[in-house]
Amino acid sequence: DMCLIAVACKPRYIRINTLKVDAEVVMQELGKTNIMVSRDDIIPEVLSLASGIDLHDHPLVCNGSIFLQGKASSMVAVALNPIPGWKVLDACAAPGNKTAHLAALMKGQGKIIACELNEDRLKTLEETIRRSGASSILSFIFLSIFYSKCNFTFPLYVDVMHGDFLDINTTAPLFKEVHAILLDPSCSGSGISAERLDHLLPSYEKGEDADACKSDRVKKLAAFQTKALLHALSFPAVERVVYSTCSVYQTENEDVIKSVLPFAKSLNFELVSPFPQWPHRGLPVFDGAEHLLRTNPKEDTEGFFIALFVRKSEKINRGN
Ligand code: SAM
Repeated sequence: DMCLIAVACKPRYIRINTLKVDAEVVMQELGKTNIMVSRDDIIPEVLSLASGIDLHDHPLVCNGSIFLQGKASSMVAVALNPIPGWKVLDACAAPGNKTAHLAALMKGQGKIIACELNEDRLKTLEETIRRSGASSILSFIFLSIFYSKCNFTFPLYVDVMHGDFLDINTTAPLFKEVHAILLDPSCSGSGISAERLDHLLPSYEKGEDADACKSDRVKKLAAFQTKALLHALSFPAVERVVYSTCSVYQTENEDVIKSVLPFAKSLNFELVSPFPQWPHRGLPVFDGAEHLLRTNPKEDTEGFFIALFVRKSEKINRGN
């Protein structure tokens, strides 16, 4: 069976798409073919696999019941903690793993705008959203009936937008009421193991000038990341902004946050700790960096960075 070929620890985690199925069903299904999984201690919709098994062609992946998404990557949408019914913007969305996760966390209620610049990656984004069931007509009908028993709000749908996030006019009707933004911009990918990324690196980065090219590239990325974060914070109604990277470099992480802090504070935002129980925090390069979250590429399989900005009025309402 193609699905059961053991590959060295790839992937170690899966995320259950709670829009389609719940954890027990997935655990039972996988158990039938002797794939042992256990529930993650912080994110209930994440399962860790007992051994490295390639699930790429597994029917549960193909039908969108599970996503091959790491634990660290799955922490990002949870950190944003969007309220069902909200309007949420995924600023740099393709291939759409976090868009699909947001849709599940919003329990099918509200609206997500998924913005992506790269046309080729847009197709993957659309395919991910389709597979997740977030925007299909059938899920509209099902969710409308299901949620009409509770507190009915409009069923969720995802608008895919092809364009540059930096060009979005924050006061345009579609955007002036955005409540939350997930900003997961292009980054160096230095937190993802080299062997998984090697085929993506341009050849000049493998040669003698690797370090010089790398630092130049990282600086350019950080300039874009900073611009994008400033833009996200400037949406008039936004209450929560999550910034994440799969980089381990301070330049793309703590330095970006530090440089936007005066602007953020002027708009009443403060840094809040996502997953306060998580021991590994930001590098202590400024007061407040203890709110930032890092994952370790060795211990946690991927090196991720997460920062959460919350507007003070919102913090009082939500209590976190
Ligand atoms: N959040 C995605 C996920 O979890 O599947 C991964 C996002 S990936 C790190 C960054 C994406 O941002 C890339 O697909 C890239 O093409 C896109 N991007 C880069 N610059 C952009 C811009 N100015 N506006 C919109 N999207 C952009």
